[in-house]
Amino acid sequence: MAKRVKPLRAGRGRSRAGREIVPTDHDMALLAYPFDEISSKLRVTVSRRARRLALRLDPKQRVMHLVVPKRASLRLAFEFAEENRDWITDKLRTLPRPVAFKDGAVIPVFGRNRRIVVLYNSALKYTDIQLKKEEILVLTNKTDPAPRIRRFLMDEAKKRIEELAAEKATLLRRRINSIQVKDTKSRWGSCSEDGDISFSYRLIFAPAKAMDYVVAHEVAHLMHMDHSDNFWRTCENLCWDYEFGKQWMSENGYDLMRFGSL
Ligand SMILES: [Zn+2]
Repeated sequence: MAKRVKPLRAGRGRSRAGREIVPTDHDMALLAYPFDEISSKLRVTVSRRARRLALRLDPKQRVMHLVVPKRASLRLAFEFAEENRDWITDKLRTLPRPVAFKDGAVIPVFGRNRRIVVLYNSALKYTDIQLKKEEILVLTNKTDPAPRIRRFLMDEAKKRIEELAAEKATLLRRRINSIQVKDTKSRWGSCSEDGDISFSYRLIFAPAKAMDYVVAHEVAHLMHMDHSDNFWRTCENLCWDYEFGKQWMSENGYDLMRFGSL
């Protein structure tokens, strides 16, 4: 999700910019401008490649990046951010909120919204969790069962992913060495030369076709360790719905990060 708000209006030869001294040390110079007063979620990024000032929303980190071209004046960058203060606040405010694993929360699991129902009973010996059609039913003796719920979802994700991966590997006649499912920070999946595949448990919050695509992608790497045309052809053949899955992950993948966020 990127948005160029407005081009840099005052160029170097024009108006105020002419008098501006381009700072040599951006870090030091940044201190002179109270960017965090505009928004505590504003992050200034000095970029060698950027041609113009831009505001870019990072929904995963829940921050707004102010991209400043290397030679641009920080004063103009500050003014630009200040002029767009309302826009910045609005965008950050309309980001989907994090959803904690607690009673009443609604979480999509395998493409279906389900409500967490926690029934607390101190006399219980252990926590029992069941995935129902409309609910995640949690019978527990814990006052905060969130870690148990997370563990349960990880196990469910692992079961489903292992089934899918095994099916697809069989089609390719390739062997999977190991499958790990964990809470990866930056990647939805990865595959090593030795056939060790890992996945983010957060795929459980994605539609089934999107999970299927990510599994197909990693399994296809058992055959092609690159992103060549041959790789993509194999990946597509292994997919339930390649177009949907690929597009969904690129457009909505970041949204999977907000469930059970710490
Ligand atoms: Zn890949």
